[in-house]
Amino acid sequence: MPVMSVRGCPYGCTFCSVHSVWERRITRRSIEGIMREVLSVKDQIREITFHDDTFVLNKQRVYAIIDAMKAEGIHLPWRCNGRVNTTDDEDLLKTMVDSGCRRMMIGLESGSDMVLQKIRKEFTAQQALEMLNHASKYFARLDLTFIWGYPFETMEDFYQTLEILGEAKRLPAEMYFHSHLLCAFPQTEMYREYKHLARFSRVFILPNELSCLPTGSPTFQN
Ligand code: SF4
Repeated sequence: MPVMSVRGCPYGCTFCSVHSVWERRITRRSIEGIMREVLSVKDQIREITFHDDTFVLNKQRVYAIIDAMKAEGIHLPWRCNGRVNTTDDEDLLKTMVDSGCRRMMIGLESGSDMVLQKIRKEFTAQQALEMLNHASKYFARLDLTFIWGYPFETMEDFYQTLEILGEAKRLPAEMYFHSHLLCAFPQTEMYREYKHLARFSRVFILPNELSCLPTGSPTFQN
């Protein structure tokens, strides 16, 4: 069952369309409202997916949602999106897993510090590895997204991404990698800066284990 607990994201990643639409405002639903929604279908569902762009924004709120699920007798597996710099707390990670969190998606985006800085992820490759190291002590599975095709990305940056994925693969958790060719979403900061390089693409068909780019999405030519 898909559930939204928060709309919007306060971060400013330059490729992301979320803050182009919602600016950097976030709107939180009440925890009681979320519980009412889940309880109304609790017996018909097998799992909850929190679809917030970043579910783990505020640790106290995550603890409060977990406590509320426990208090309401909601013992379902659930999954969510985290962020490197908000999910680096081992107590939080353990509490999430103990309460049924089975999968967490983390936007890694690149293994190159130069790229991470330019796209404003607000963490370094080393910090990402440390967070994954902590998370893999508790999670059996982690999903990592990364992007290629930044207009300023060199092959050296791309190899650094492959290296960090290789490092992550050596950790105990099962790692699922989701690869995305950068899409030039209009009104993103990156689009505004590099729109002279944007072009509409052909259909990209990638190998099975990699994500496909929707037909005709604009990409950057570098
Ligand atoms: S990529 Fe994720 S963390 Fe960055 S602005 Fe978008 S939703 Fe927020």
